[in-house]
Amino acid sequence: MLQILTHPAVAGLLVMSFIGALAYKLHFVDISGLIGAFVVGFTVWYTGGIAPFIILLFFFMSAGVGTRFKYKAKATQNLAQEGKGKRSWKNVFGSGIIPMFFSIGIYLTSLFPALIDAGWPFLMFAGFIGSVATTSADTLASEVGVFSKSKPRLITNLRRKVPKGTIGAVSLLGEGAAFFAGLVIGTIALIITLLVPSLVPAVATPEQLFVLVPLSVLTAFIGCNLDSLFGAVLQHRFVCEICGIVTDKEFHCKYETKFVGGFKRFTNLHVNLGSSGMGATLGIILGAGLFVWILGGLFFWIAASSSS
Ligand SMILES: [Zn+2]
Repeated sequence: MLQILTHPAVAGLLVMSFIGALAYKLHFVDISGLIGAFVVGFTVWYTGGIAPFIILLFFFMSAGVGTRFKYKAKATQNLAQEGKGKRSWKNVFGSGIIPMFFSIGIYLTSLFPALIDAGWPFLMFAGFIGSVATTSADTLASEVGVFSKSKPRLITNLRRKVPKGTIGAVSLLGEGAAFFAGLVIGTIALIITLLVPSLVPAVATPEQLFVLVPLSVLTAFIGCNLDSLFGAVLQHRFVCEICGIVTDKEFHCKYETKFVGGFKRFTNLHVNLGSSGMGATLGIILGAGLFVWILGGLFFWIAASSSS
C-alpha cells in the first residue's frame, strides 16, 4: 500500500487533488482554471520533481493571495482581475505552460548521460526559474503597483503620466514588487538546493548554485518590463470614453470601449506567453554563465542612451 502511495504518479495525483481543492475553495481559480492547474501541476511534479513543483506552487499561491489583496478597493476603481479574481484556464496556461515545457525538458535531458554531462538539466531548470520569476514579477507588480501613490508612467514614453491600470504603465512601486518577486523565487530555489541538493536538477558546481538568486532577480526585473513593453506596443488596446483609460477590456465604466491600437486578437494571454518565454530564454543565458555579456550590454546601452 505504501509503495503505491509513494509512486511519483500516485503521490502527484494526491498532492494535486489536495492543492487543487484548496485553491478552488479559496476562489483562486474557477473550474477551467482548476483543470488547467491540475494538468500543469501534475506534469511539473512528475517530470521536474519536487523542487520545480514547490517553486511553481509558491507562484500560484502568491498570485492568488496578491489578486485577493484589497480586491474590493481594486474592483471599485476597475483595476481588479475579472471574474471576481478567479483565474481561468487562460490565466493558468499563460503563466504555467512555459515552465511546464521546461520541466519536461528537465526530465528529457536527464535521460541522456551525455546531456547531463553537458549541463543541460541545469539549463532547463534555469529556463524554468526564468519563466516563473518573470510571471511572478509581472503578477505582483500589477496587483501591488496599482496602489502606487504617484501616477504611473508609460513604458514607451516615461515622461508621460497615465491613469492606473493603463496597458504598459509602470511605477516605482511596481518595479520594486517585480524585484522582490525575483528575489523570493531565487531564494526559495537556493534554499531547496542547499537543504536537499538531490531535488534540484544537476546543480554541479557552487557557481551554478549561487547564480540562482541573481538569475531570478534579473530575469524577473527584465522580463516584467518586457511584458509591459509587449503590452504597450503589440497588445490590442481600447480607450474608455468615460474615464480615458487605455485598457484591454472591451467594457469599462459600464460602457463599450473604442479600439485604438495594437494587433487585433493579440491579447494579454499572448503578452504573458511572450514575456514568460523571454524570461526563460534569459534564464538559460544567465544559467550558462553569460552574466558578463548581459551586464556589459546593459552598461553600454545605458552609456549610449545617456550620452545621446
Ligand atoms: Zn473607464
